[in-house]
This record gives sequence, structure tokens and C-alpha cells, in this order.
Amino acid sequence: MLVSPTPIVKDLVLVGGGHSHITVLKKFGMKPVPGVQLTLVCRDVHTPYSGMLPGLIAGHYTYDEAHIDLRKLCVFSSTRFIHDEVLRLDPNRRTLHFRQRPPIPYDLVSLNIGSTPDMRDIDGAREHAVPVKPISEFLPRWEALLQRVKNLDTAPIIAVVGAGAGGVELTLAIQHRLRGHFVSVDRASMPEMHIFCATPEILPTHNRKVRARFERILAERGVTVHRESPVVKVTADGLRTATGWRGRFHEVVWVTKAAAAPWLSDSGIATDSRGFLRVDESLRAVSHPNVYAAGDVAAVDAHPREKAGVFAVRQGPPLAENLRRALWGRPSRPFRPQRQFLSLVSTGDQYAVASRSGWSFEGEWVWKLKDWIDRRFMDKYQELPAMDGGSQIPPAVTPDDPEPPQHDIRCRGCASKIGATPLLGALDSIEPFWREDVPDGLGSRDDAAILKVPAGKSLVQSVDFFPAIVDDPFLFGQIAANHALSDIFAMGAVPQSALAVAGIPFSAPEKTEDLLRQMLLGANEIFRETRTNLAGGHTSECPELALGFVVNGIADTDKVMRKGGLQCGDALVLTKALGTGVLFAAEMRLQAKGRWIDGAIGSMLQSSQRAADILHTYGAVACTDITGFGLAGHLVEMLEASGVAAEIHLRSLPRLAGALACLKAGVFSSLYPENLKLWARVSNSDVAPDHPAFALMFDPQTSGGLLSGIPESNVADCLEALREAGYERASRIGMVRHAPADGNLLSVI
Ligand SMILES: Cc1cc2nc3c(=O)[nH]c(=O)nc-3n(C[C@H](O)[C@H](O)[C@H](O)COP(=O)(O)OP(=O)(O)OC[C@H]3O[C@@H](n4cnc5c(N)ncnc54)[C@H](O)[C@@H]3O)c2cc1C
Repeated sequence: MLVSPTPIVKDLVLVGGGHSHITVLKKFGMKPVPGVQLTLVCRDVHTPYSGMLPGLIAGHYTYDEAHIDLRKLCVFSSTRFIHDEVLRLDPNRRTLHFRQRPPIPYDLVSLNIGSTPDMRDIDGAREHAVPVKPISEFLPRWEALLQRVKNLDTAPIIAVVGAGAGGVELTLAIQHRLRGHFVSVDRASMPEMHIFCATPEILPTHNRKVRARFERILAERGVTVHRESPVVKVTADGLRTATGWRGRFHEVVWVTKAAAAPWLSDSGIATDSRGFLRVDESLRAVSHPNVYAAGDVAAVDAHPREKAGVFAVRQGPPLAENLRRALWGRPSRPFRPQRQFLSLVSTGDQYAVASRSGWSFEGEWVWKLKDWIDRRFMDKYQELPAMDGGSQIPPAVTPDDPEPPQHDIRCRGCASKIGATPLLGALDSIEPFWREDVPDGLGSRDDAAILKVPAGKSLVQSVDFFPAIVDDPFLFGQIAANHALSDIFAMGAVPQSALAVAGIPFSAPEKTEDLLRQMLLGANEIFRETRTNLAGGHTSECPELALGFVVNGIADTDKVMRKGGLQCGDALVLTKALGTGVLFAAEMRLQAKGRWIDGAIGSMLQSSQRAADILHTYGAVACTDITGFGLAGHLVEMLEASGVAAEIHLRSLPRLAGALACLKAGVFSSLYPENLKLWARVSNSDVAPDHPAFALMFDPQTSGGLLSGIPESNVADCLEALREAGYERASRIGMVRHAPADGNLLSVI
């Protein structure tokens, strides 16, 4: 999370979690550069390691073995992670533009976004062929294909277009996996594999001996090789080549030579004839000194090389060094990639061919060697070392601005407010949702907002505030707004207005402005969706990024849902899964998988507005939202207010992916011990802790679900309506009972 002892004065943004940037992240994690905010933007949370890709398809590696968890690497290196896709780079304004969020600025940017197989100009390829990259899109298609072939009456016929090392490896890997499947289900018919290339020979960049070995292996495996057969058309059920050959295929996989993302050449940065970014020997763009690039996306003018992961890996350390030097204003160092490298191409069945310059070998031992090298490489990024707190901290960077911020003594009281310039700059981009009942809000210069409450209605008010749970300020703004509004929804009210309280770590003024802008833009997006007016707020310098809101809602006085009102016999319904507390605690300890955190973020971003309406429609009288005190804490508040007890069905507690695994690993949120004190209110507390879900009852939630009592006769319909509205994890988690004489309000089964 954003806790910076030194003011942030520069932004280094890494775009793409490719093979070079993982090294940059690791190196910056081991030796941070004070004063620099490091950000990784990537459309994937788990990035594949190219060397293990064919082994993953063949079934020799699991998903986690073949992928690097970028979220974890970011936590390790105190890097802000933005899960999105860059669609444009504006080198003049130094901004990056995204698919799903507002632009962010950079001082220095580095691109390691790889390439995709070139499908341009091929009729029907985009619609019907499956490109092997992005791998995050290929893998679900591959899994779907595996499922589909199970139901085929005839053997699957697969075409692979492209006979470079990637295409040949993939062909043999697919065949191996499908064969394994058909043998295991005892089917006589075997998959039929075809490989297509435009050249007279397969593996054109490899030596003669390697080609001969693979010609033999492909023939032995019954793979049909179509040489000098460029594919010119792909249809829903097959393909056509330039020679006029037509064939029917169940799947056409595309692994031809690499193409660059089109937005690179559109951005005005110098690119080569194929659209790849031209860089000098120090990996710096020849046209723009504050843009760097490595891996497939970079074309090194002085040292052209084929697009291969091995070069991207080698460029990692010099890229890290040169980015560091650029931040300190020092000249960068040239890097000369080696011309020859050990190539290890697998054949699908734990067998591989090795080559370097003119020689080559093959055998099971070559696969074992490849497997050993690949696993050793992955270990470096999957088993991250514990940090010693930075015994040798390098010098802090200084801003380009000749008047660096003075930060030795920071004043308190109202002098700790964010300066007027960054504040007004940030507010400039915020367009609050306009409402008649908030006539004076953010736009007015008055000391307070003016709110109108219609006659006969009640104003419902709540406040929430907490330090950043995620380090992406835009996402944090969305979560904080959603979290605050759930109190209003839990009361059965309609949100009207919000006042923000924002804490920003001390930074250069333009960084402060951007942090505030990003947070408020995120929050305002949620407020606009819920027709809430962002009417004003207050800012302060803080040791870490923090945000909260006073939220106001309007309610019909007689329809307000309160904590009291649970009736004996009501079913308890919870609208979201539990586990955000333990998952984020595990993330900080590098024990959570990136996709678990993605799941928790998705849950926190889900508004409870519709859920509240549905609960009310199906007879809810009492309702609350589950937050810091956990399910047990908030439920006990309801039980006390209603004078009843409850029985919780541990088996039915909806849980976020990974939450139980983290609890079993002994990870708990720091608030958990305090929440656990309610254990004393559990009547059968002696048996319950054995159940794996028991601890979930005490896990503090951020933007958790709504908990309500629903009359038994309505529960099934209520749950169906909730699930239809997108609350897929909504569950009946227990029953309301008469309060026992011993005062223990909770029992668990
Ligand atoms: C089947 C197959 C097998 C291969 N085997 C080998 C091998 O054994 N050895 C070898 O050296 N090479 C191999 N290659 C080639 C290798 O995959 C590539 O050369 C290598 O992946 C390039 O690495 P990179 O670091 O440039 O980018 P990548 O590894 O492709 O990483 C790019 C990253 O950027 C992200 N990204 C892309 N666009 C955006 C965007 N706009 N915004 C945000 N994020 C973005 C992606 O999500 C990804 O995380 C193989 C290729 C294939 C297809």
C-alpha cells in the first residue's frame, strides 16, 4: 500500500508484465529508489512464462507453475498495480490511456507488452482462428476445446498455422494432450494434426540439424506438414491456402510471426517497418528519451534479433539498471545482446531438442534439463525473499522541478491541508451528479454544502474512513465509495450526497493532485451510478493514502430498515461472500494468489443498492451491512437489537476463493483477534472451531454484503431474485431463534 517515507517526486510506469519487467520489479523490490512511485499496468494478473507454455498445454505443468503472479511481485516491490490494458500513449502529455479507467501521467515509462501473432490481412482469421496470444484469451479457448472434443463423435482435426519453434512445439503439445485424453477415455480415433507454413521449411530460424530432427519427429507422430502453403482464408469450419488447398478443421490455432500493437505507431513514437518500437542500445526509444522498451515490443536498432522470450529475459537487468540511472539523471549504459543462445524446443512428450549455432542434441535428458532451467527461473519470481528493511538504501531521486518540496518538518492542524493548486486541479476533473436537493455543493465556494430533505422523509447519515486497501487510487476510490454507501442501502435509504475526507502522502504538488484526482474520479464514478452528489470534502497530508465519506441518504421514515426487527423463524440471508479481511492480510504477507485478490476486488466493487431493494421487496425489516466487525459482530448487534438469537450454518457461509486456504495457512486479519472475542457468545463454542469456515464469521469485511432476515416463505424467491441481479454468492446462512436464557445469542451447526 502507498506508505512512503520520502515524498514521491517521480512516476515510473511499467506497461506489461513481460519477461523483462518481472526482473525490473524484483530488482526495484530488492533495492527501492526513494522518491519514486513505481506502477505496473498489465491486462493480466498472472503472466505466462513462455518457456513453460507448451508444457502447460501438454499437461506437464499446472497453471500456477507456468505463470508469474504479478500482484504478488508488486506487493514485494511496493509497486502500485493497475489491472487494465493500455490503449494509447501520449508522449507529448506524458500520459497513458486505458480501456477502463481515466489516464495516468508518467515521468518515465517502460514498455514490455510482447507481441501477438500477425493475423492482419487474413480473411476470417480474426473471427475464426485462435491466436496463441494473448495467452489469457487462448487458455480458456483451449480448455473449451478440451471439453468440446470429449463430446465429438469423430476425432478432432486441428490446424496450427505457423511452423516456427512456437508453432511446432504447440502442435506437438496439443497432440500429446489430446492423445492422452483419448487414450484415457478409451477411444480408438486419434486427433489429426496439421501444421502450415509459408516457407519451404519448418523452423526457418533454426539450424539444418534441428530441422531434420523435427521433420522426423513430426512424421513419426503423423503430423501433416503443409509447406509453402500460406493460409489466406479461415472459415468457421476450416481454412484455405494460397495454393488453393482447402481443409475442414475443428480448430485453427494461429502462431505466425509476431505483430506489434497498432497503438504504438499511432502514438507518434518512432517504430520500425513492422510497427515495433525502435530503441537504442540502452533500450531507450530513439525518438523519446523518457520512453524505454524491452522484449518483443522493442526493435533494437543496432542489434536486431528474433522475437523470443530468451532475449526479453536477458534485457531485464540492463533495463532495470538504465531505468534507475534515468531516474537519477545519469547517462544510461549500452547493452549488447548475445547472438547465439541455447535453444530448447520440446516435443510434447517430455522429450526435447537442444541446439546452439551449428550443433544439436535430443533426448529425454534434454527435456529434463529444460524443465530444470525453467523451474529454476520461475522459483526466482515465485519464492520471493523476505526483505531486511533496506540496509543499503540508494539515494532518493530529485524532481526535475528546480524547487524541490521541503519536507523536513511538516505542519499539522489545518496547515496539513493539500495546497489550493493541486486541490483545485484535482477537483477540476470531477463532475458530480447534479441533484435539485443539493443546490450548493462542490461547485460553490461556501463553507458547507446545503442539503434539502423533503417533508415527511428522514435524512440517514453515516461515515466511513480507512487507509487504502488497494494501491491503485482510482480503484480505491471506487471501493471506498461503495463501502460507505452500503450503510445507506442497508438502512433502506436512497443515497443523496457525500462529503469526502481524503488523506494523501506528502508528494510533489503534481503527484498530490494526481493521487487526489484518481481517488475522487473513482469515487465519483460510483456516486454518479448511484445518483449521489459529491458535495464537498476535506483533505489532509497523511502518512498513507486514505479515503472516507460522510454519506447521506433519504428514506421514508416508516420504511427504514434497522438492526432491530428480526423475527423468530426468519431465514438469515447474506448477499456477498466473506473473506476480504483474510485475503488482503494474506496479500501483504505474499501468501495470496493474484486471482484471489481479483475476486475480492470484484466483490467489493459490487454495489449493494439492488440487493437492498430485493431484500426489502421480499419482506426484510431488519438489515445491516457486514464490515469491520465481521459477520458475527454485526449479526450480534442485530440479535441484541431484536431480542432474539441465531443459528449459523457454517457449511452455507459463502466464501471468496482462497479465503479458507489463507485461514488454514494461519493468516488472519489484524482485527480478527478483537472480533473473535464474540466467541464467548457462541453457545456451542467448544465444537465449532474445528470447522474450516468458523473463522470466517470473525473476518472483518470491506464493502461486504448485506445481512437480513427474510420470512421463511419468501427465501427461495428472494435468493433467486438476488442471484438474477448478479449477487451470485447470495446465500441463506442460518435461522433466527428464540433467545436462550444463558445469554449466548449464537450457535453454529
Ligand atoms: C507457443 C509458444 C512457445 C514459445 N516458447 C518460447 C521458448 O521456449 N523460448 C523463447 O525464448 N521464446 C518462446 N516463445 C516466444 C515468446 O513467447 C515471446 O518472445 C515472449 O513471450 C516475449 O516476451 P515479452 O516479455 O516481450 O512479452 P510477453 O511475455 O508476451 O508479456 C507481455 C505482457 O504484457 C501484457 N500486455 C500486453 N499488451 C498490454 C497492454 N496494452 N496493456 C497492458 N498490458 C499489456 C500482457 O498481458 C503480458 O503480461 C514462444 C512463443 C509461443 C507462442
